[in-house]
Amino acid sequence: MTDANCIFCKIIAGQIPSRKVYEDEHVFAFHDIAPWAPIHFLIIPKLHIPSMAQLVPEHAALMGHMMTLAPKLALQEGCNPYPDGGFRLLVNNGSEGGQEVHHLHMHVMGGPRPWLRG
Ligand code: 5GP
Ligand code: ZN
Repeated sequence: MTDANCIFCKIIAGQIPSRKVYEDEHVFAFHDIAPWAPIHFLIIPKLHIPSMAQLVPEHAALMGHMMTLAPKLALQEGCNPYPDGGFRLLVNNGSEGGQEVHHLHMHVMGGPRPWLRG
């Protein structure tokens, strides 16, 4: 369920401080420590799932929950509304996919361009 060596599990547990955006029974969202965009936060499941490679059909509702939360939290955090505003959703998977932290996470990025990256 959790991995004692995982930094995102430690963030969920409050053992590593973070700037929380949202929390419920199943998910946690917090600002990225090194933002690429004016608004950049991560949505993560409380369950320690290393990446999308480990997803099984039982995770469908959880993933759907994270995706439907993204536009609501994006607006809450100051992203401008669709279609002139909007946000970018990114999930890196594995080394070649650019994943550095192996606890599944969705990046939500938005705000006026230009951005540092993305
Ligand atoms: P990945 O490259 O795995 O898709 O993204 C990991 C993200 O987690 C990076 O954007 C990085 O800045 C962020 N990150 C890594 N460690 C921490 C941390 O301790 N606190 C927060 N808030 N973000 C972190
Ligand atoms: Zn974890």
